[in-house]
Amino acid sequence: MKILELVRNNVKELKPYASARDEYQDGLNNKLFLDANENPFDNGVNRYPDPQQSQVKSELSKIKNLSTNNMLLGNGSDEILDLIFRAFCEPNKDRVITLPPTYGMYQVLANINAVEVVEVPLSNTFQPRIDKILEVTNAKILFLCSPNNPSGNCFAVSDVEKLLKNFQGIVVLDEAYIDFSEQKSWLNKLDEFPNLIITQTFSKAYGLAGIRLGIGYASTEIISVLNKIKPPYNVNSLTQQSVLDRLKNRKEVAFEIQQIKAERENLIIELQAISFISKIYHSDANFILVKVDDANFRYQQFIEKGIVIRNRTNQLGCKNCLRLTLGTKAENTRLINTLKAIQ
Ligand SMILES: *Cc1c(COP(=O)(O)O)cnc(C)c1O
Repeated sequence: MKILELVRNNVKELKPYASARDEYQDGLNNKLFLDANENPFDNGVNRYPDPQQSQVKSELSKIKNLSTNNMLLGNGSDEILDLIFRAFCEPNKDRVITLPPTYGMYQVLANINAVEVVEVPLSNTFQPRIDKILEVTNAKILFLCSPNNPSGNCFAVSDVEKLLKNFQGIVVLDEAYIDFSEQKSWLNKLDEFPNLIITQTFSKAYGLAGIRLGIGYASTEIISVLNKIKPPYNVNSLTQQSVLDRLKNRKEVAFEIQQIKAERENLIIELQAISFISKIYHSDANFILVKVDDANFRYQQFIEKGIVIRNRTNQLGCKNCLRLTLGTKAENTRLINTLKAIQ
């Protein structure tokens, strides 16, 4: 498979916007910057941000053991996903595959980009149906979300591998929740699969949802295509600084993940004692999907108690299911007490 043949013609031929400072990011070396019409008075953010986020990528490169040329940073992974649509999918012509129930943004972004979505529902154990997926012809992108939102489970490694080997297009593997999983990330397999794009985010385990920072990892070939079409200053200076600060505190991140995982085990035990919960789905993420007697009724009861959860009853295969995000110990205790009170 030739990756470049999957890229839209206008993107292939496109010359990216060259910001005046692209070549001069080497920091405090006495250069005088009179090129970008900025206000010269220093207040910490008077200059445009580094369009290639070199410092952030260099830190990530050490942590992930990958070259900075295999990374693209975006305004949340949502921006990365949008760039992938725009690089590979011709509006009103191309199509992509999603595996519902899954993350809603794939469909929304497809609609925005006028791209058709072929849905191949997950099995009743929320695993991909390989044969059905590979039967779909002429799909440009396959979206795999593992651990999957809203079901919470990982896809079987052998199934993902089969899809990576046999799908004739780009495979986007969304690893937003990978830090909560026992399964390993596919990052160290990037070399083996030229059609693989892995997305990760700082919004979940890293506790930085407010700064909007997502990462796409892929071959240098794919990254350079996406780089051509990304807005030059898509990741602002405050975001770059916040993530650098957070990455200095990786022990704290690890400790928080460990606490959330411990809370997951606790909550599962407590949920088993609730009479109106008939099923607790396995979770590799920081949320738990449960099946209840009447999701709309229970959801309303929670709202009345001041607790907002996610009602997933209208999602394929999720009838009467509620999704509960894990909170702090105190928050989870309040959740449990409420569950007991409304039985
Ligand atoms: C929360 C979530 C994201 C995160 O998106 P950001 O734009 O990075 O905040 C991505 N994928 C899935 C499946 C999610 O649930």
